[in-house]
Amino acid sequence: MQIFLPEKIGLCFGVKRALKLTLDEIKRNRKVYILGDLIHNPQVAENLRRRGIKSIGNLSQIKEGTLIIRSHGEDPSVIREARKRKLRVLDATCPYVLKVQKIVRSLSQESYRVIIVGTDTHPEVRGVIANVKKGRVYVVKNSQETEKLPFLKKAGIVAQTTENIENFSRIVKRLIEKTSECRVFNTICRIIRERQEEIRKLAREVEAVIVVGGYNSSNTHQLVKLCQSLEVKTCFVEKEEDLSMKEWKGIKRVGITGGTSTPEEVIEKIKNKLLNQGGKGT
Ligand code: SF4
Repeated sequence: MQIFLPEKIGLCFGVKRALKLTLDEIKRNRKVYILGDLIHNPQVAENLRRRGIKSIGNLSQIKEGTLIIRSHGEDPSVIREARKRKLRVLDATCPYVLKVQKIVRSLSQESYRVIIVGTDTHPEVRGVIANVKKGRVYVVKNSQETEKLPFLKKAGIVAQTTENIENFSRIVKRLIEKTSECRVFNTICRIIRERQEEIRKLAREVEAVIVVGGYNSSNTHQLVKLCQSLEVKTCFVEKEEDLSMKEWKGIKRVGITGGTSTPEEVIEKIKNKLLNQGGKGT
């Protein structure tokens, strides 16, 4: 079996930055908190917990210390509230996410209805929604969901940073027919676009792809969906123990990739497992 890895794997710069900020802070301050998990990866979340960094559900659970704002961003009112409570706030919101927030704020001020292509329950999307005037925002996941929207005079469309470009294009095409004036901002993160492009190339060279990442990671799910749409055998695993070797009998060329919240070491472990079964790296 030959094993292929794309050029770009491992954590993206937004996640690395959030991680560094958090680890530096725990050296200085013993009370460091995050609303939810810093990143959607169980190994990293566990490592942070072991170092004493605590995940909380809401601000009422803490009285002092440092609050880290994740790379996904946060509702600005939560940040204001944390400062009001005299917490030290370290904002690790990724610059790509900040850009989406800025765009929707300005669209909202100019009386555009904002349409976000993404998942309404995702923390990044919830943070973006919080930047728009109440009742003037819609979230759609696929082109079927555009049917529920009314005809709009002025609409501005943005994407969740991890969105799949084909899905975004399909939705934009449909929405142009449902609006008089429509402004489109392709806010899919550059790193995500590059990873999607690399998967397209990889899928042409292999019979199967192993996608590695947290089962709760949005961008890893997007990579899985993309592989499936390219009709290549796709296997989604979180860690090496999840990989059953029986499935790989007879497969000669396999690719391994991971989400932007998947550390390189986790991918290396999967690769080593295949190498130990007689696979050859390329
Ligand atoms: S995937 Fe892109 S938007 Fe998300 S944290 Fe990484 S660099 Fe930022």
